[in-house]
Amino acid sequence: MKWSAEAEKTMRRVPFFIRKMVRKKVEAYAASAGAEIILNEHIEACKKQYMKQMDRDLRGYSVETCLGAQECSNRTLGQTNIADEIEEFLKGQKMKEFLQERLGRPLKVHNEFRVSISFCPNSCSRPQIVDVGLIGAVVVEPSEQDDTCNGCGACAKVCKEDAIVLDGSDVKILRERCLYCGHCERVCPKSAISRVDEGFRILVGGKLGRHPQLGMELPRIYAPEDALLVVKEVVRFFKKECKKGERLGEIVSSMGFEAFLQQLNLP
Ligand code: SF4
Ligand code: SF4
Ligand code: SF4
Repeated sequence: MKWSAEAEKTMRRVPFFIRKMVRKKVEAYAASAGAEIILNEHIEACKKQYMKQMDRDLRGYSVETCLGAQECSNRTLGQTNIADEIEEFLKGQKMKEFLQERLGRPLKVHNEFRVSISFCPNSCSRPQIVDVGLIGAVVVEPSEQDDTCNGCGACAKVCKEDAIVLDGSDVKILRERCLYCGHCERVCPKSAISRVDEGFRILVGGKLGRHPQLGMELPRIYAPEDALLVVKEVVRFFKKECKKGERLGEIVSSMGFEAFLQQLNLP
């Protein structure tokens, strides 16, 4: 289908990563309207239709995962249903009704309570900028047996954080640098580094908008069943403290992270 010069110009302002999808939608809309050439008015009408649809589809919450939920070689932990369990929990919380009542108006997409899960520190689903972000983590330790490591250096080479210090066959992991990705365990040919724990790091209060902020990290790594309890506890807190539909990040920032932690009954 042909596009007018003005419509092409408008499309150049659409972010590149959604441009192809938008083009398809506009073309489908224009075709259904019997148009032979796409004009700016088709883009506008399509946009309005899309926004209307989006408002109708709002549920008051969203749960996203990175592709590691299916398959990714970087994934840190074994199979877990945590995304489905969080989804199920939020569904029962009637978040849309709750937020609309607090806001005193229909919900917009930026008002939704958002959860994002990434299964490794690469954080492809951007858990740092949502209300609750989960990042898959594996805790590794060097073997306690002196003769296991052969000093090959593969672990130090693969660690992007420079968190491994090798002195011959003596391995040390600098905990303050480690991001719990588990790569060192995977590459070690002698099983001289092993996983001693796995679960999720949890960030709370991230958001974009007028005053963007990154989520603040809770103090430890939570096993999947505990991570679900943390999400439930954070939602309980949010529903108690949210008076006018403000985002969790605003509430946590105004009371201070330490005071927020004290109000949570964490596992
Ligand atoms: S966050 Fe990690 S596990 Fe998930 S898709 Fe990205 S690289 Fe893979
Ligand atoms: S788990 Fe990842 S960040 Fe931590 S020491 Fe191993 S390779 Fe480095
Ligand atoms: S990869 Fe394993 S065997 Fe090689 S230096 Fe590291 S801990 Fe030792």
